Amino acid sequence: MRTFFIAGNWKMNTLPGEAAQLVDAIVSSKSVQEAPSSVIVAMFPPHLSLTSAIEAAGKFRVSIGGQNCHHKEHGAYTGEISASVLAHIGCSHVIVGHSERRRDHGETNELIGQKATRAITSGLIPIICVGETLAEHEAGRTKEVVGAQLSEILNAAGKEIVAGSIIAYEPVWAIGTGRAATPQQAQDVHQFIRHWLDEHQTPNLPILYGGSVTPENASALFACEDIDGALVGGASLKHESFCAIIDAAAKASTQ
Ligand code: PEP
Repeated sequence: MRTFFIAGNWKMNTLPGEAAQLVDAIVSSKSVQEAPSSVIVAMFPPHLSLTSAIEAAGKFRVSIGGQNCHHKEHGAYTGEISASVLAHIGCSHVIVGHSERRRDHGETNELIGQKATRAITSGLIPIICVGETLAEHEAGRTKEVVGAQLSEILNAAGKEIVAGSIIAYEPVWAIGTGRAATPQQAQDVHQFIRHWLDEHQTPNLPILYGGSVTPENASALFACEDIDGALVGGASLKHESFCAIIDAAAKASTQ
């Protein structure tokens, strides 16, 4: 049975009450209630909605995580969020290096490696995002760019940290555009990442695909050998579409 990790990145959406309602709709769905233990479901609400999401998740077998954390443990970093606070309130995971943070906050691979380190030392599992821009994609530089991102993150974080992480391949041109990578395109890059991780003695990591995943394309993506789940943006904000993606993973897991 293959294991799948289905993560919903809610970005800057949902008030605390709405987050609780969405978690409640998802955890009480047949999709989650009847999902095999090989399907792991995680949701990433905005920071101020985390507590209500965690309360709504209650005893159900779903994970809640943060969308970002600072690389330092504590200190004079106004407006930042610490990994230890996320862990303390009940988060199990944190996304680091999402392309929107790279784009809007100038996050570098070195910083992302430091954030992954802080996450792990605080007891969180980081989801490390990598992926090329449209210009890099069109120039045929995808593997060169993704390989360089992984190298710089590994240099900053070290093997032990990367070995405890989840990788998300998110082509920037596919995020929020409705233009997902084809299963063949995604599989090709995932296979490259898998080999890269093997060569750098950090094998067996889950590699998620992110970029316009929907109920319509999820099954074809999950049928690919090296796609171990999805990081879902837009389609994670409606319980019907997120649950349909969970169903696709459950089906793929038993095939
Ligand atoms: C994301 O935000 O990581 C993402 C993949 O978004 P979307 O599914 O909306 O493309």
